[in-house]
Amino acid sequence: MIKTYDVVIVGAGGAGLRAAVEIPKEYSCAVISKVYPPRSHTGTAQGGVCAALSNMEEDSWENHAFDTVKGSDYLGDQDSIEVMCRDAIRAIIELEHMGMPFSRNDKGLIAQRFFGGHTKPEDKNDPYGKRVPVKRSCYSADRTGHVMLQTLFENSIKNQVTFYSEYFVTDLLVENGVCKGVVAFDIANSEVQIFQAKAVLFATGGYGRVFRITSNAHAGTGDGSSLVYNAGLPLEDMEFFQFHPTGLWKLGILVSEAARGEGGILKNKDGERFMARYAPSVMDLAPRDMVSRAIITEIREGRGIRGSDGTDYVLLDLTHLGKEVIDEKLPEITGFARTYLGVEPTTEPIPIQPTAHYAMGGIPTNTDCEVLLNEKGDTVKGLYAAGECACVSVHGANRLGTNSLLDLVVFGRRGGKAIAEFLKTAAFSDISEKADEKTRELIDRLLTSAGNERAVSIRTELQNNMMEDCGVFRSEAGLKKMIVKLEELKERYKNISIQDKSRVFNTELVEAIELNNLLNNAEATLYGAYNRTESRGAHSREDYPKRDDQDWMKHSFAFKKDSGAPEIKYKPVVITRYQPMERKY
Ligand SMILES: Cc1cc2nc3c(=O)[nH]c(=O)nc-3n(C[C@H](O)[C@H](O)[C@H](O)COP(=O)(O)OP(=O)(O)OC[C@H]3O[C@@H](n4cnc5c(N)ncnc54)[C@H](O)[C@@H]3O)c2cc1C
Repeated sequence: MIKTYDVVIVGAGGAGLRAAVEIPKEYSCAVISKVYPPRSHTGTAQGGVCAALSNMEEDSWENHAFDTVKGSDYLGDQDSIEVMCRDAIRAIIELEHMGMPFSRNDKGLIAQRFFGGHTKPEDKNDPYGKRVPVKRSCYSADRTGHVMLQTLFENSIKNQVTFYSEYFVTDLLVENGVCKGVVAFDIANSEVQIFQAKAVLFATGGYGRVFRITSNAHAGTGDGSSLVYNAGLPLEDMEFFQFHPTGLWKLGILVSEAARGEGGILKNKDGERFMARYAPSVMDLAPRDMVSRAIITEIREGRGIRGSDGTDYVLLDLTHLGKEVIDEKLPEITGFARTYLGVEPTTEPIPIQPTAHYAMGGIPTNTDCEVLLNEKGDTVKGLYAAGECACVSVHGANRLGTNSLLDLVVFGRRGGKAIAEFLKTAAFSDISEKADEKTRELIDRLLTSAGNERAVSIRTELQNNMMEDCGVFRSEAGLKKMIVKLEELKERYKNISIQDKSRVFNTELVEAIELNNLLNNAEATLYGAYNRTESRGAHSREDYPKRDDQDWMKHSFAFKKDSGAPEIKYKPVVITRYQPMERKY
């Protein structure tokens, strides 16, 4: 039987739920999520969500927009960035009115703190002169994503959304540029279900699980981007993947940038505050791409600290902040350091290393979250995307801290609004009763295959090699090596089998399907990285260390081919008021 809804939203993180809140009650709306909604990765976000509220000091949305453009290494589309930064202030007040419990300053206003790359001009009359850090990130201690997700979950229940929790979406039904719905299976019993919809919004999050060390939840396997890519639609700017400088050593669990926002300092083995050499004006508050490169450089040049397992780290020192500040403002992340590394952050520095964190690239959309059919800007009718899986592009080549939670609420809402408008005239497209055949076959094949490959070994090799050859630093030789490896893994994937043959909560089945999605995301990332012969933002080519605005001020659009490399086309960057400059901090 086909289930029919006016709108189907895939993903119950911040972006999906913010969109769900916006759908008028007269339309039926289903939210499908492979995890129970409040377990979405948004719930782990720690540090904050930014807007130029000026609650702590004078600020403006134009300051925020300039920082975002510069942070993006001039690859972000400036029209989209202006939309986001201008709307940020309203979006935060709206969250407050929905019931989100923000931390407060002593005037009772929403408190704000420093975050990397968020600055303002030292002299107001010289907007492009020297810039100093500004307190722009609103927060709830270091559990900002948790309270945001709970707030949006409650509000979407109030809005009478129907939830399909622990349903796994396996197919996107797009034909001749029109979206008709999706296919999913219920993880509890593996029953396959067709969802017919006038509009579908993908809010499926990131794909950090492509890398060995990552801050991302296990569910961060890029399913949405993979399904779009498989449907013949492009993925944009996939070569730009952000490594967050401070993951707990070996584990990758995030230590929010809020730790440095509150005054934490990075040190090498000699106790030197090394960021002074790399970003003299903002030091530890430089953007993430720069800090991650600085850490790896320190380690490569022998100034890291060698751990018992032979891997290296540097130190994040919070000891001078005092127990009171740590307990009030950074309770969660310091708890992680105690629990997982046995380190007491009030008296000892925390061992950290860069961790794969955020996908700047993804499913290309316009500012109304309509998914693009091609690099010319044509759109797919009835298909929308928002949040980390989407690429609007506001983050360009490198995202600033706390701009993602903002992206979720600004573009989640815009997507919801655009869908509500579309529904006024939209009709259902015909859908075949057999639209679920591909998924049924996939599940049957995996459950009965006698192949000799295991998902876990392919995944481990993928993650180790991507970390090594397509991580913070990249080079032609490493990327070529990785391409050979990826093609081998794709071949081996065809021969996988799973040991658990049951249809009840078969997590091995889920992981096998997720692995194919990881391979797709890795493919677009890797070939994009190989293709782009410059260094910009998070994409750092050792053999092409300079940014090349002459040839590369453009977005890449990767289209999947039957085998081997994707076809890559280009779309120009939108520039409104900020001309590219050298990026120095
Ligand atoms: C540890 C950590 C800390 C962070 N801290 C901050 C911060 O302080 N500030 C900030 O701005 N950003 C932060 N970020 C980034 C930000 O949290 C994420 O980019 C953002 O939350 C992603 O939200 P989303 O709604 O796009 O997707 P997610 O919250 O990742 O949700 C994805 C949803 O899609 C569903 N889904 C995926 N695939 C399928 C499928 N096949 N079938 C059905 N459902 C599916 C999942 O079940 C889930 O509900 C942090 C990220 C991490 C990992």
